[in-house]
Amino acid sequence: MAHTFDVIVLGVGGFGSGAFDHLARRGLKVLGLDRFPPGHDRGSSHGETRIIRKAYFEHPDYVPLLLRAYDLWHELERDIGQTLFHRAGLLISGPPHGEAVAGARLARDRYNVPLEEIPRADLPARFPGFRIPDEFDAVFEPDGGYLEVENCVLAHARRGERAGGVIRSNETVRAWSSNGRTVTVTTERDTYSAASLVITAGAWAGTLLADLRIPLQVVRKPLFWCPVRSGDYAVQSGCPTFYFDLPRGSFYGFPSIDGSTLKVAEHSGGAPVDDPLLVNREIQPDDFPRVGEFLREHMPQIDPQPARHSVCLYTVTPDHHFAVDVHPQYRNVAVGAGFSGHGFKFTSVLGEALADLATTGRSDLPIEFLSLDRKALHPTTM
Ligand SMILES: Cc1cc2nc3c(=O)[nH]c(=O)nc-3n(C[C@H](O)[C@H](O)[C@H](O)COP(=O)(O)OP(=O)(O)OC[C@H]3O[C@@H](n4cnc5c(N)ncnc54)[C@H](O)[C@@H]3O)c2cc1C
Repeated sequence: MAHTFDVIVLGVGGFGSGAFDHLARRGLKVLGLDRFPPGHDRGSSHGETRIIRKAYFEHPDYVPLLLRAYDLWHELERDIGQTLFHRAGLLISGPPHGEAVAGARLARDRYNVPLEEIPRADLPARFPGFRIPDEFDAVFEPDGGYLEVENCVLAHARRGERAGGVIRSNETVRAWSSNGRTVTVTTERDTYSAASLVITAGAWAGTLLADLRIPLQVVRKPLFWCPVRSGDYAVQSGCPTFYFDLPRGSFYGFPSIDGSTLKVAEHSGGAPVDDPLLVNREIQPDDFPRVGEFLREHMPQIDPQPARHSVCLYTVTPDHHFAVDVHPQYRNVAVGAGFSGHGFKFTSVLGEALADLATTGRSDLPIEFLSLDRKALHPTTM
């Protein structure tokens, strides 16, 4: 006979751990299922750090969610007695009318979030490690910074378990079904049933949600830790997280946390991946040159020779906005997918939204713009 729960969370990575935690703390009997243990490095939620910011250049509609996300991260830190968020600030640089600088200004103007304009003459003293071209503007978000990504996943998972939730790791889900009132989830080992289901399967969402016919493209994203040759890049010296919107692509990174290397990567581009389990995790000849070129031009005191690297996965929607909604056929199935390389900071708040959707079919959080029926997710029917 199937084991019975109130809610099953399929995938306990970034978003699944958030949903699992919210559901368990509501007193529900929750089961989290994952092929890997929480905090693993096979999906999209690893590599030590993730940028968090409020002046959201991708679209100002994300800002109210971010304000709630920050509150929830602080609450989680208090509950577990551990620092997860580091307010290192965020330097954004790019053409004045480019997506990043203009978008951050728009979000600031609409929601009054702090964002400083940095006069050109102040740049060398304020940000000595960076070379910013004359034709670029620079803005600084003091509330920006970074989250400790694996520790955030573990914190959500552990707090949810403390509230009574159960996580079964090393258990791959083969299939799920719903009749609108109950769901059945079959793994390689067992069968489980529940009143509702949250599907947060990251790079595997396309397979598990094939019936939705949303084009989700998984891309391979290498990231690099490069040696620092100056104390200017140390987090203790006030070096911020950074995002450069260049004509040839966007590049981002973090201050040096260990004092000897810093993490840097390209946000744009990425090679499509057929099977996320088989992605090549070795450095390829094409992986580093573009990042090296960025460093030589804009961060000259970084040694453009990676000391170590990691490979991560983006799951990208056609409009680069997330898909967070109830399943169109089954009101007891909530879906969180397509986080397009910028989702992690939202795992606290969208975990809450997914818990709402799974239990009531709706959420008071402003997530309408992430709906599954928006046109961009159905390009062939446009
Ligand atoms: C290199 C890189 C840099 C990034 N930088 C940022 C950043 O600075 N700021 C930011 O906000 N976001 C950033 N992101 C994006 C963010 O990290 C992701 O959007 C987020 O982590 C996605 O979480 P997820 O829950 O969708 O996926 P995951 O965390 O990968 O979770 C999916 C889980 O589902 C499980 N699963 C899937 N299928 C099955 C199955 N059949 N059976 C059992 N388990 C299954 C997987 O094992 C996995 O644990 C970055 C992403 C990458 C890759």
